[in-house]
Amino acid sequence: MAERILIIEDESKIARFLELELKHEGYEVEIAYDGRSGLERAEKNDIDLIILDLMLPLMSGIEVCRRIRKFSDVPIIMLTAKDDISDKVTGLDSGADDYVTKPFAIEELLARIRVALKRRAMSTRDTNSETITSGKLVLNKLQHKVTYDGEEVFLSKKEYDLLLYLMENKGIVLDREKLIENVWGYDFIGDTNVTDVYIRYLRSKIDQKYGVSFIKTIRGVGYIFEDQAEN
Ligand code: CA
Repeated sequence: MAERILIIEDESKIARFLELELKHEGYEVEIAYDGRSGLERAEKNDIDLIILDLMLPLMSGIEVCRRIRKFSDVPIIMLTAKDDISDKVTGLDSGADDYVTKPFAIEELLARIRVALKRRAMSTRDTNSETITSGKLVLNKLQHKVTYDGEEVFLSKKEYDLLLYLMENKGIVLDREKLIENVWGYDFIGDTNVTDVYIRYLRSKIDQKYGVSFIKTIRGVGYIFEDQAEN
């Protein structure tokens, strides 16, 4: 499967040029033209590498990088507009893996992309213990990725958080208050029925889709994730 690269770059000429070059190399490519939409796209957690421009509208590259690092270890290569050492330091401080100065030689950037992807593949292999498994359902905590029988299950961030909490507490009955506290946070204001809604989403994406029943309802109490080693 082709590795997916997200380009966050407001200069459309550069973004377009990168897209063509990367596609030519066999990568899947997506583009976001400002910091905020780039961050939103990254939150889906299905990107293998991010090329991030430093100077961006709506949210700076530094801020985007900081926020991505709160939920993901995806390799980030920063593009700095000027050969300014302080930009590089700030970029690396905010969690970028590498940087390339504009104007850059495409060969150099491609080489750095290959290095970053290889490094990531190796570290992924080392962290197999970072997964929770139940039958054919596998949740990878580092990649924030869920698969069933090898097929990726695409979850929103909240759905993922909820599934993670359920799987970490397999076999324990969890009431709505507990789910709210641990998945939505203590400061959540709103109806605890939101848990029912998200349980329904998870069921439709996993239980119903694959004809299994991991998530059981305990009437009047809450929910329980039942381990299904046989599945
Ligand atoms: Ca820019």
